[in-house]
Amino acid sequence: MATPVSSLGTPLTASATKLLLLGSGELGKEVAIEAQRLGCEVVACDRYEHAPAMQVAHRSRVFSMLDADELRRVVEEERPDLVVPEIEAIATHVLVELEAEGVRVVPTARATQLTMNREGIRRFAAEQLEVPTSPYRFVESFAELRDAVAQLGLPAVVKPVMSSSGKGQSVVRETADLDDAWAHAIEGGRAGGRRCIVEGFVDFDAELTILTVSSVDGIQCCPPIGHLQVDGDYRESWQPAPVDDRVWERAQQVARRVVEGLGGWGLFGVELFVVGDDVVFSEVSPRPHDTGMVTLASQDLSEFALHVRAILGFPVPTVQLRRAAASVPLLGEGYGVPRFEGLDAALAVPEGQVRLFGKPRCEGRRRLAVALAAGDDITEARRRAAEIADAIRIVITSS
Ligand code: AMP
Repeated sequence: MATPVSSLGTPLTASATKLLLLGSGELGKEVAIEAQRLGCEVVACDRYEHAPAMQVAHRSRVFSMLDADELRRVVEEERPDLVVPEIEAIATHVLVELEAEGVRVVPTARATQLTMNREGIRRFAAEQLEVPTSPYRFVESFAELRDAVAQLGLPAVVKPVMSSSGKGQSVVRETADLDDAWAHAIEGGRAGGRRCIVEGFVDFDAELTILTVSSVDGIQCCPPIGHLQVDGDYRESWQPAPVDDRVWERAQQVARRVVEGLGGWGLFGVELFVVGDDVVFSEVSPRPHDTGMVTLASQDLSEFALHVRAILGFPVPTVQLRRAAASVPLLGEGYGVPRFEGLDAALAVPEGQVRLFGKPRCEGRRRLAVALAAGDDITEARRRAAEIADAIRIVITSS
């Protein structure tokens, strides 16, 4: 188990506290910035050059983190104090081996392994921790999918076990949808995997992300974040989400149970559905969550600052919600280099902020920026964030 720390070194010297970021997207970029603020040395890794976090890190390494040999080689060369996974697509069995050899993995190698795959975390949560989830089956062929849907009933949700951001996911509303759902899942599964989870459709009243931080001080939950998803991908989030006391109590119980079960220090994004007075566990990220970008505008310590504090072994005082806030991610569409227009109007919105991720290219549909806004209440914050998002036009140029 990690031990609390009381001092940090100086970057680029032998005393440096060195973080190896596995994954350099927009969430990794904010983690890198927070780590830099505490004078950590940050080495950012991803499979392509000039990824967002690489642009603010001390150094970068370009390789496939799914390649077990390469991953081991880079960790052995860099000898980081902490390995900080920022994405799911990692050869996590190597992290398990490295951890056994004394390398510190955030929050733990087992947590990264269980959550890289929908099967691992679903079985762990439902079968070991016994938290409420949707009913589910795992399938590897069309025939198995048909049987699973017959057992679970319609509608059902099909998702490759290795996928994120809605890739390969679809809702089967009638048996005629089965063929398309299977074809879509096969196409969308990471690393060509065919295995899928089929879930009973949860007719939820709301979706929540409970950012839960586990640190030397124990476990605490941030005020609930509400969010809206389209095609399995988030389109808007707001904090604090209005929830009644009973739901909030249950949501915290489930979040704590999952985070305690996974173990280790860090910030976790626990995704829940609210159905009447009940909560149903959906997923968890053992790292900052995309819907949690709203905390850049709402909390005294953002989810990124909380993660860095917790993983380094520092105290995390009670999180303060300073303002109601909202976020709207901006998607680019097309192939080429993005350019952002209308920033003058966007940045004129009161209490508004914009984060342009600096992704070097758009390839199809890609999240490239986020609009953030605070307000007196979530209605005002959401209106402002939408205004910022509307003002910005992303032009993809072929250069
Ligand atoms: P996931 O990638 O599992 O987080 O799914 C993305 C989104 O799809 C969720 O945030 C929900 O909006 C929707 N979704 C996923 N699973 C279910 C389900 N079993 N029932 C209803 N909606 C779901």
